Amino acid sequence: MALTSLVKDELSRINVLKPCCRKAEVSTLLRFAGGLHLAAGRIVVEAELDTGAAARRLRKDITEIFGHSSDLIVLAPSGLRKGNRYVVRVHKEGDSLARQTGLVDNRGRPVRGLPRQVVAGSTCDCEAAWRGAFLAHGSLTEPGRSMSLEVTCPGPEAALAMVGAARRLKIQAKARDVRGVDRVVVRVLHADHPMAAGARRMIFGQTASAGQPSTACIPPANLRHSVCSAASAAAPRSVSP
Ligand SMILES: [Zn+2]
Repeated sequence: MALTSLVKDELSRINVLKPCCRKAEVSTLLRFAGGLHLAAGRIVVEAELDTGAAARRLRKDITEIFGHSSDLIVLAPSGLRKGNRYVVRVHKEGDSLARQTGLVDNRGRPVRGLPRQVVAGSTCDCEAAWRGAFLAHGSLTEPGRSMSLEVTCPGPEAALAMVGAARRLKIQAKARDVRGVDRVVVRVLHADHPMAAGARRMIFGQTASAGQPSTACIPPANLRHSVCSAASAAAPRSVSP
C-alpha cells in the first residue's frame, strides 16, 4: 500500500470525541471531496473518496453528528483510475446537511472558501480541517531526502483558508496554482526538521491522539522514521509564516 493510503487508513481510525472537531472534519471533507448538486430544486450533498475507511468514517459522522442517513456507492476501477472510488451521498436531507455544515450560507449560496465555523474555530478544529482535507484530497510524497504533504483544493479561497488553518497550528503552508489546480503544500525537509513534527501533529492532531498513544506513531515504519522520530526527538519549534 502506498504511503498516502496507509496514512489515510490510519487517519480514518482516529477516534475523535469532541463534536466541534467532528463537525469541522466533516465540513472540510465535504468541501474538498465533494460537491453540492441540485436535483429537482433540492441540494444533494456528495463526496467521492478513494478509501472505503474514509467513506465509512464520513457516513458514521454524518449520522451521529448531523442526524442524516446517507447512501454509499462503490465505483469500480475504470480507465486510468486504478482503485475503487467511494461516493457518499446525502439525498433526502441534503439541504439541511449543507446548512448544518456551513457549505451554504443562510441564503443558500455555496461557501467559497471554508465554512465560517471552521475558519473561526479553535485550533482543535484547524487540525480537524486538515484531517478532513487530507482524507478528501491529500497526498504525501514517498519519503526520501525531502517529503511534502499536499492537498488539492476546490479553489484559491479554500487553499488560502487551509494556509490560515496551518498558520494557527504554527505550520508554514503555501498555496500554489499548479496548471490551474489550486494546491496547498507543506514541505517537510528532513526528519530532524521541526516541520516534520509539525506536519505529523497537524494531520494526526494533538487533541485527537491525546490518550491514544498507540495512534501517535502507528504509521508505517518509513513514515514513523521520518515523521514520528522527529516528533519524539524534539519539541516542535514555532515556524514563522
Ligand atoms: Zn474542536
